[in-house]
Amino acid sequence: MMRNVFLTGGSRGIGAAAVLALARAGYNVAFTYHAHPEAAEAVAAQARALSPAGTFLPICADAGDSAQVCAAVAQAEEALGSLQVLVCNAGIAQQKLFTDTTDEDWHRMMAVDLDGAFYACRAVLPGMIRQKYGRIVLISSMWGQTGGSCEVAYSAAKAGLIGLGRALAKEEGPSGVTVNIIAPGVIDTDMMASFTDEDRAALAEETPVERLGTAEDVARAIVFLCDENAGYITGQVLGVNGGLVI
Ligand code: NDP
Repeated sequence: MMRNVFLTGGSRGIGAAAVLALARAGYNVAFTYHAHPEAAEAVAAQARALSPAGTFLPICADAGDSAQVCAAVAQAEEALGSLQVLVCNAGIAQQKLFTDTTDEDWHRMMAVDLDGAFYACRAVLPGMIRQKYGRIVLISSMWGQTGGSCEVAYSAAKAGLIGLGRALAKEEGPSGVTVNIIAPGVIDTDMMASFTDEDRAALAEETPVERLGTAEDVARAIVFLCDENAGYITGQVLGVNGGLVI
């Protein structure tokens, strides 16, 4: 079986770690980015070094734009052939009081963090259904499970991803496509750039395994759920959070 992946947001953080972990596991990966072409090229170069026989293709596409996501999936299929795996990882976060949240803040959050997964799933599914095989992994958040103060828009979008994934798992199970959701806890990436060292120490102390998560912690869970042998796991929310949410 050829193993071709389309992953959104592969230029940094969890997405970049996932591209490299998938490269090590023998997959070809087309991945999107939005604002950092050099970072995306660097990830592709690292992946090629890890897997010289593999194909790694960075594609510029705004996850919140339906036409750009469709065009990116078409470009990936053209370059790699049919896709077996989709990882919807691209995301933005925003910390703001709910009462200060503007229409623009809300709609941009929904566009990137929720609509983006809808566009990507809808674009890849016809090919997966034709093959009667597929693996879809959606990157939500523990805030999608529990709700985060001052992150209402983010929590709503991430909760939406859980609903999307569970419903889609029921609809696509008979077509051989599994759909699972990963809900990371506190993962040390650029998304946490605004946190001070004291914030980090306090979060680590609150976490049962006493450390923050790494992008690689989440990447390993992604590779596990993408595996052919994970076919009896679908519609599940896998927390990768060091025990912060149980
Ligand atoms: P980073 O900010 O480190 O990376 C975000 C990635 O998404 C980058 O590759 C970025 O591309 C891409 N991206 C952002 N906006 C868009 C867009 N409009 N279109 C396409 N790509 C876009 O974030 P993380 O790696 O930390 O987060 C990855 C996912 O994990 C997100 O969905 C996030 O919500 C989720 N998550 C993260 C947690 C954490 O603690 N870090 C906790 C829970 C969930 P570019 O480089 O071009 O900007």
